Amino acid sequence: MKLKLGLLYGGKSAEHEVSLLTARAVSQAIDFDKYEVYPVFISKEGEWRKGQKLLGPVETVETLQFGDDTGKANDITSFLPAENSAQELDASTGNEGLDVIFPLLHGPNGEDGTVQGLLEVLNLPYVGNGVLASAAGMDKVVMKQLFAQAGLKQVPFVHFIRKEWKNNQALLLEKIESSLKWPLFVKPANLGSSVGITKANNREELIKAIDLAFKYDRKILVEQGIVAREIEMSVLGNDTPRCSVAGEVLPTKDFYDYSAKYIDGTTNYAIPAKVSDRLQKSLEDAAIRAFKVLDCSGLVRADFFVTDTEEVLINEVNTMPGFTPISMYPKLWMASGLSYSDLIEELISLAIERYEEKQ
Ligand code: ATP
Ligand code: MG
Ligand code: MG
Ligand code: MG
Repeated sequence: MKLKLGLLYGGKSAEHEVSLLTARAVSQAIDFDKYEVYPVFISKEGEWRKGQKLLGPVETVETLQFGDDTGKANDITSFLPAENSAQELDASTGNEGLDVIFPLLHGPNGEDGTVQGLLEVLNLPYVGNGVLASAAGMDKVVMKQLFAQAGLKQVPFVHFIRKEWKNNQALLLEKIESSLKWPLFVKPANLGSSVGITKANNREELIKAIDLAFKYDRKILVEQGIVAREIEMSVLGNDTPRCSVAGEVLPTKDFYDYSAKYIDGTTNYAIPAKVSDRLQKSLEDAAIRAFKVLDCSGLVRADFFVTDTEEVLINEVNTMPGFTPISMYPKLWMASGLSYSDLIEELISLAIERYEEKQ
């Protein structure tokens, strides 16, 4: 019997459009002889709609954005396995329970553990990280504290919440300026895609950067800037994860900001990156340690800084990294000998393995 796979995409986050492109790409790579593929679309307003079974690869993203006539909005029972679901009787809508979900969502309500919690409650296997890893990986402060615990090297940082900034601005500025060296990077704790991140070279820029970051989050961090290579590793697996070759981001401007990522196309990439065997080993070791300390499963992209003396510092992990065929995560696997289709298949197997391991 074919496995009933739900592709969960769209969502309320800023990365809605990217998610649609990912869903289209996955539909084009998946083996329809092995899976019955159902689209589950979350509209920008946050409405859930399960669609009719896909008959083949999706050509245009418009066909992925269907209205509520094809599915039932906000009816979470329609995702339950058929035997547990009222939908079993509802043959007219084509709703059948799903066996496994592939969340193709980024950002808040997608990769932060909330959707993962819903899928846990529904007792459905799903691809990727669970509740704990997703939530811990979304919060850069919690993530860094766990990395420190695991003995991973990082740049020094200071963190605080909006209320502390309002009440103790002078004290916090003193703390930042006495413990960190310029330039500084100011970041909202819970975002991605470089949104809300600013490089600050002096106190005036720092205050502006802090005010901006607080527009996105109630918690922020200020990091010491570092001059280093930016290297990323893809990790795949559950209890015995493995690493891809290394990939390098080569920004042609000040840093790898939002527009360098998605708009102006100025960034160059080296896949694989030029790294010595020794450096590859240290990167693998650090990536696996990061994966384990957050209790990750399925996939993670680990982002590093590498200094000119080959010191490896971890910047962050991303629990649902960009996943179109031109994104770093799949490209690093392609360069390691694993095709996009095979990667998707392995992730689905890992989802089922993890589900069975928990029982
Ligand atoms: P994404 O999830 O898309 O990878 P993000 O929003 O989680 O990004 P970071 O990866 O933390 O943000 O930072 C974005 C970019 O800013 C980095 O790729 C790097 O170019 C630059 N950057 C961040 N922190 C530092 C730092 N401490 N020193 C130097 N550059 C930094
Ligand atoms: Mg990130
Ligand atoms: Mg991200
Ligand atoms: Mg990053």
